[in-house]
Amino acid sequence: RAKSRRRGGAVRFEPQFERELKRRRSLEIELADALEHEQFSLVFQPEIDVETRRIVGFEALLRWDHPGRGRLLPVDFLWVAEGTTLITRIDSWVLRTACMQARDLGDVTLAVNMSPVTLRHAGVADEVMRILEETGFPPHRLEIEITETAIIGEAREITDVLARLRNSGIRLALDDFGTGHASLLHVRNLPVSKIKIDRTFICNLGVARDAASIVEYVVRLGRSLGITLTAEGVETEEQLRFLRAFGAQQAQGYLFSAPLPVEAATAMLEANRKAFPALVRPWRRTV
Ligand code: C2E
Ligand code: MG
Ligand code: MG
Ligand code: MG
Repeated sequence: RAKSRRRGGAVRFEPQFERELKRRRSLEIELADALEHEQFSLVFQPEIDVETRRIVGFEALLRWDHPGRGRLLPVDFLWVAEGTTLITRIDSWVLRTACMQARDLGDVTLAVNMSPVTLRHAGVADEVMRILEETGFPPHRLEIEITETAIIGEAREITDVLARLRNSGIRLALDDFGTGHASLLHVRNLPVSKIKIDRTFICNLGVARDAASIVEYVVRLGRSLGITLTAEGVETEEQLRFLRAFGAQQAQGYLFSAPLPVEAATAMLEANRKAFPALVRPWRRTV
């Protein structure tokens, strides 16, 4: 034991580095396999109107039923896919499948995540349009979520893509807002219609005082720019009260529902429509 401790750092580092490399390579092979053998599936998590508690949309989230390791989350494998061209094929698969499964869901939006790697691809806008045509999914019901990190430093490269998508009627949402370094000044110059405030701020509401200040500030600035604010990871009624007080419009999180298979999401939407009928505004009736 004493002997190995005397070795240089690089020597002890090497086996671990090799292990990582091997793990990555085998994951890459398994991922390519997963696409061909239909091991991927989608779950849908509702987004709720804070005032009325009505479901306004669903976000599609990717799951991988690995033959040996059970159900894997994106955090377990997306980092590998993003290092290869596989991510673009996966993002296409997700968009196509989500559009097919959510088409008959009703008049709600469908949010789909797209990797920055995919957004930098030259043909991405054409591919999105082709998928919408093939599936018959209405563009105005689709919302593409991009992370803050996607737009930083890449702004020029993807500006054209974003403009094309937006001009086709697709909406764009800025995901995990607050975790990167984008400011609301960036946002003002992008065709973004929604900001999703990251879960880390929401879970600190009522816990750390600065979280409340940050969320309140983002909501206020978002409202003044005409951008919808969605809070992600809402787990408690207390957090929801904060959001309502600040004027955030939408919320998503375990308080309302975990991500669900499409059948369960459909059932949830029906129940939600019965429990919270649309508001009939008396001043509209007089027209
Ligand atoms: P995201 O887009 O911010 O998605 C929200 C994540 O928070 C989801 O994790 C969801 O299951 C989780 N979540 C929702 N409500 C709560 C809550 O109340 N509490 C807590 N603790 N967590 C909550 P998930 O499904 O593991 O996805 C993680 C990330 O992976 C996503 O973050 C998204 O960035 C990425 N991702 C997921 N699906 C896809 C996909 O199809 N394509 C791409 N490119 N990325 C994806
Ligand atoms: Mg998202
Ligand atoms: Mg998010
Ligand atoms: Mg997030």
